[in-house]
Amino acid sequence: MGRKFCVGGNWKMNGNKAEIAEIVKTLVAGPLDPNTEVVIGCPAVYISYVRGLLPATIGVAGQNSYKVAKGAFTGEVAPAMLKDVGADWVILGHSERRQIFGETDDLIGEKVAHALAEGLKVIACIGETLQERESNKTEEVVFRQMSVLSKYVKDWTNVVVAYEPVWAIGTGKTATPEQAQAVHSVLRKWLVDNVSQAVSDSLRIQYGGSVTAANAKELASQADIDGFLVGGASLKPEFVQIVNAKQ
Ligand code: PEP
Repeated sequence: MGRKFCVGGNWKMNGNKAEIAEIVKTLVAGPLDPNTEVVIGCPAVYISYVRGLLPATIGVAGQNSYKVAKGAFTGEVAPAMLKDVGADWVILGHSERRQIFGETDDLIGEKVAHALAEGLKVIACIGETLQERESNKTEEVVFRQMSVLSKYVKDWTNVVVAYEPVWAIGTGKTATPEQAQAVHSVLRKWLVDNVSQAVSDSLRIQYGGSVTAANAKELASQADIDGFLVGGASLKPEFVQIVNAKQ
């Protein structure tokens, strides 16, 4: 169906200039599969530094941005500012933003809408908690998150959705390829029923949650997994193997 595999690294609040230079060296040495799109989500203050070190073929993402262009919002960053310092993407709705900073589905939707309007591409994260999975609410939760998102997204061209079960993030407990594929597949069906067949066919859905070099290939072989959002392993040399998981 021609969905280009897309792997994002989410460095979260990690790294300093010296450490970043080391990680970038590994990425530059690669070699990275030219058929995979690669995006590095780095702390906002380092975007300009990272952009200067990385080849133009690798995208750079912020990890958050606010829903308006400017004003009295102490501590916030606008999409236009991320763009101004070299980002072309932003990660929004990460479970850490939802859980630690109390971001709601609607706030995330508003942020996504504004980032897209300002010309950034968006990795929009969704996913259920362990409690929700154990009470058989996975579909209900991800459908609700997608439904709110779809109120704010009129054109999905510049959106990638990252399905990240919260119980798998940073825990070393990866969803099995079957568990991940099952959710990706119902998300695609949801898109047919609620958005359009065309968006269902073209929207890239990444899997995120303890992806490593050891499990990436099998996950990448699933029909509806179009890439990964990678936290911990994106800070390590094995990120190169994860990028190349489709080879
Ligand atoms: C993430 O932060 O989006 C993530 C998936 O983290 P990890 O790969 O460390 O589980």
